Amino acid sequence: MAPVTSTSSTSTPQATEVLRRVFGYDSFREGQQEIIEHVVAGGDALVLMPTGGGKSLCYQIPALVRPGTGVVVSPLIALMQDQVDALRALGVRAGFLNSTQEFGDREVTEAEYLAGELDLLYLAPERLRSEQTLQFLSRGKIALFAIDEAHCVSQWGHDFRPDYLRLSALHERWPDVPRIALTATATPATHAEIAQRLGLEQARHLVAGFDRPNIRYHIEPKQEPKRQLLRLLRTEHDGDAGIVYCLSRSSVEKIALFLQENGIPALPYHAGLDAATRAAHQSRFLREDGLVMVATIAFGMGIDKPDVRFVAHLDLPKSVEGYYQETGRAGRDGLPATAWMAYGLQDVVQLRKLSTEGDETHRRRQLDQLDAMLALCETVDCRRVRLLAYFGQDGSPCGNCDTCLTPPATWDATVPAQKLLSTVLRLQRERNQRFGAGHLIDILLGKKTEKVLQFDHASLTVFGVGTELSEAEWRAVVRQLLALGLLTVEGEYGTLSLTPESAPVLRGERPLSLRRDPTPRKPDRSAKPGGSSAKPAADLAPEAASLFDRLRAWRAATAKEQGVPAYVVFHDATLREIASTHPTTLGELSGISGVGENKLTKYGEAILTVLEDHP
Ligand code: ADP
Ligand code: ZN
Repeated sequence: MAPVTSTSSTSTPQATEVLRRVFGYDSFREGQQEIIEHVVAGGDALVLMPTGGGKSLCYQIPALVRPGTGVVVSPLIALMQDQVDALRALGVRAGFLNSTQEFGDREVTEAEYLAGELDLLYLAPERLRSEQTLQFLSRGKIALFAIDEAHCVSQWGHDFRPDYLRLSALHERWPDVPRIALTATATPATHAEIAQRLGLEQARHLVAGFDRPNIRYHIEPKQEPKRQLLRLLRTEHDGDAGIVYCLSRSSVEKIALFLQENGIPALPYHAGLDAATRAAHQSRFLREDGLVMVATIAFGMGIDKPDVRFVAHLDLPKSVEGYYQETGRAGRDGLPATAWMAYGLQDVVQLRKLSTEGDETHRRRQLDQLDAMLALCETVDCRRVRLLAYFGQDGSPCGNCDTCLTPPATWDATVPAQKLLSTVLRLQRERNQRFGAGHLIDILLGKKTEKVLQFDHASLTVFGVGTELSEAEWRAVVRQLLALGLLTVEGEYGTLSLTPESAPVLRGERPLSLRRDPTPRKPDRSAKPGGSSAKPAADLAPEAASLFDRLRAWRAATAKEQGVPAYVVFHDATLREIASTHPTTLGELSGISGVGENKLTKYGEAILTVLEDHP
């Protein structure tokens, strides 16, 4: 980690001035100023900040302060138009070059770059493969290179892009141009890998706090996932925009249909849909208020819609890194948001099976990732503390996750665990048979099913010895034994076997305390739409709340007229502040966070009119 070299005395006032005038913000967030000053002064930087932390300003402000154009390398072609629109709405001269562009538009952007008329130019990484592009860039003046989504250089990550490996060459060609790499995904190992592959070991590193305090984490046992999801949407997120993640394409389709049938506007998104449909669905999600996107993990990277109020997982993600990145898409605007997941025995069985595939290194890595994910799900301690620990950071119990809000009970499960493990053991030893969870539970409950009769399992000494627990409770036991590595699952049928760790439990040498699954909440009839805590307007006084609604209606109409997403006009947080402070002059309006010079000129009068019309 290199010290800040020279911080020119003029950069601070310039950077702060740009922050206020262009973006309409009063002060920098933690870490932003240090990095911005360092890059303005010509230094390299590697920035790790959680989603919504404010990475973009770290390269946008230096690009505005330094002479020349900031070249932004981003893999997110489908989002470039929106990113550029958002910057133009602030009065920033921005453009992009990518394969989706009309020839004429490209020529215009190229000419602007060469004439020094662009502050920011977005490019896809594959562009930099061609010598032609490199020569073109050489003919203009480059203020800096920003490498966005820098974790794409990590070969272990799920977003690996080979073209990112070439980006280290930028430095050889333009040794004097500062480079700033940014990502929201980084465990200590990924961090080191990014620095090494991009040649940024000597750069200034900023590791911001990864906490997202406005996100409420909630993980519940999966019982009737569709109903559970519907309950969440109806009671806590009525009318909100959100993302529902599923593992497979077919479940994406099914859930989207299910939500539509229940009157919730939902769209599917997965890699099996053609490009035009995907683009159309993404665009609608960004532009319309209150749409729910049901998607595989193919959706979401770079989606900087600030008012996503919830992210729901109906299947267990494969790693905590993935989970944190996906849930991080909620609540970028800093207002309350929910990260909800339903997780059950079947998820564990399925992922444990998947992680027996591939070569040894790959398998180990997958198993470690899965173990960390399961530990998060089964913890009786604060979820946030666990999450932060995964990223090497400390935290204290947060008061804003399910385990903090309703501490789960634990119970002594030693005897039931022994019954289950000895059933597995007996079948294996006495009959050389292995079975999945369902059949084992039937045996313990003494159910004379067809399969029990077929295999004569009613004659086992363990038959019917487990009637003290219900089927759901037994499933919770199996799930937790799998999560703890006291059972493993194998093969196409998900058969269970013992592990070396099972023996001490069977011998009574290791007492076992398990988490008691909370009983599912009954649908809360008293909860009114709009009355929940995750609503942007929830804690506003009634008058301000109705004003907020009017401002949103004005914003929707304005955005539609201009063909841009609503948040490009103003964020919810800005409208909220306007609604609660009720400014009466342009001067007062300009003091509100998110109202910069350009937007004041463009929308100031219209906003004041909306406010005046309000009785
Ligand atoms: P990231 O790229 O890290 O996910 P963004 O750069 O999109 O995050 O920033 C998240 C949100 O925070 C945006 O709405 C942005 O305008 C806002 N923001 C960033 N920096 C500041 C600041 N210093 N003051 C107020 N809002 C900020
Ligand atoms: Zn907590």
